[in-house]
Amino acid sequence: KAKYLTKVTDINKLYLEKIINEGDIVVDATMGNGYDTKYLAQKVGENGFVYSFDVQEEAIKSTAKKLEKENLDKRVKLILDGHENMDKHVEKEVSCIVFNLGYLPRAKHRIITKPNTTIKAIEHSLKLLKPHGVVSISIYTGHEGGMDEKNSVYDFVKNLDQSDFDVLECGFVNQINNPPQLVLIEKKNEF
Ligand code: SAM
Repeated sequence: KAKYLTKVTDINKLYLEKIINEGDIVVDATMGNGYDTKYLAQKVGENGFVYSFDVQEEAIKSTAKKLEKENLDKRVKLILDGHENMDKHVEKEVSCIVFNLGYLPRAKHRIITKPNTTIKAIEHSLKLLKPHGVVSISIYTGHEGGMDEKNSVYDFVKNLDQSDFDVLECGFVNQINNPPQLVLIEKKNEF
């Protein structure tokens, strides 16, 4: 088992550590069981704020519990709506938006993120970012529909204008079983 090159979500945190500062406003586009939401809430501190989205009531309940336990609930808004409607809930510029695509492990229903709504949400995210803000997307291809979603995300991000955005890809090139991928997009300047 690897010690350093573990999950893409861990590698993602190496970047997030630098990107997110105390007092920032950030978004968790895929709340799930709230691990990322909790991490983000800790990172932004008591003067920051996290908007967190999921379409499953189950996700809201388990995340609310996690946050209350750590006394982090006041700096987080849990939103039962699709991330494709992010623009209706988030009105301020944000420094970071985190996507962890796919399905919620061990959930009752296998509700997965889907290409069309994911792309719409990424489009909204790029508008909401402040200069040098980052969208981070962890992508999994092992489940049904996962490869289609990955291809849609790649088609979209590959075509982003280099003068507006830098796009970085991280992946495990020697893993055989559908290794996950991480894509990071930084907004360059005001435009
Ligand atoms: N980040 C989560 C955590 O820390 O536990 C894991 C996220 S899980 C891989 C993906 C989540 O995306 C699922 O909980 C699923 O319900 C949610 N999802 C699916 N479609 C969505 C949509 N349109 N908008 C927001 N969330 C969605």
